[in-house]
Amino acid sequence: MAPRPDLGPHPRLGYTASAIDRAAAVRHDDTALMKYWEQRNAGCYVIGGELVVLKDLGEDSDPLFAPEAACALGTAREKIFLGLADDAPRFGLGFDPQAVELLKTHNDLKITDLRLIAVQGLVGPEHLPPLAEAKAVIGWHARHRFCPNCGAPTRVVQGGWRRDCPVCKAEHFPRTDPVVIMLPIAGDRCVLGRSPRFPQTMWSCLAGFCEPGESIEEAARREVAEEVGLVCAQVKYFASQPWPFPSSIMIGCHAEALSENIVVDREELEDARWVARSWLLAHADDDEFRMPRRDSIARRLIDDWLAGDIETAGGAER
Ligand SMILES: [Zn+2]
Repeated sequence: MAPRPDLGPHPRLGYTASAIDRAAAVRHDDTALMKYWEQRNAGCYVIGGELVVLKDLGEDSDPLFAPEAACALGTAREKIFLGLADDAPRFGLGFDPQAVELLKTHNDLKITDLRLIAVQGLVGPEHLPPLAEAKAVIGWHARHRFCPNCGAPTRVVQGGWRRDCPVCKAEHFPRTDPVVIMLPIAGDRCVLGRSPRFPQTMWSCLAGFCEPGESIEEAARREVAEEVGLVCAQVKYFASQPWPFPSSIMIGCHAEALSENIVVDREELEDARWVARSWLLAHADDDEFRMPRRDSIARRLIDDWLAGDIETAGGAER
């Protein structure tokens, strides 16, 4: 089902706006899934851990393999029914990461990780959402082979969307970990931080996992307090982005900062600072100061605030 053009931020965020109809009602029907697998227009994505297998076509890369060709690459540990692209069935095949590593010797294949595929635009943008879907679910399988309830080996059912325990009968579903990512703002200034993991000169929003028993707003306030020592009042949800590293969803918010004094948690951040809107507009993406990629939720949180689309302290809805 094609996404409606009036939905979500533009341009679309990486891994979002999937054109796949997940067709969840079919997942229980093994006969229908087998027919889909044998259909001539069926295609699969091949993933092992962080690595994705692409067909190397010289200038271009193609992530989609015919089922037979994918199976010729090795033995899949899991087969996930991702859904239908129009009427073409799509599957994700989970391989042992070491087996995929060995495929690097094949001249007609390109083996790389999903981040690089997205950053370098190695595949058409329509492939990023199903690759994210496949990678997140395959990664979940790799970490949930045994029942967390009783320790018995579990088995894959529902087209790869559930693992059942034959001993204690527990049913286990793929998880998504919520991460809050926020831009603290006050009037014409915002706070940007630098993680030691960032490329040199890159500054971005603050982020952290939402903890059990916490609302999104509470998690955003806590993370800002922990990382930069600022007190925040109103937290406004902006948009979200799937983040399959390994299986998160980034929940983007603007947070109204009430206090001024930044105290950086050096365990988490290399640095953090207040940045004025006018300075950011003048320096965005120059050599000394880089912002996150334009298709990231972090960048959209900053850009929409820069454009004046976000209510700040003193706004009508305060
Ligand atoms: Zn069990």
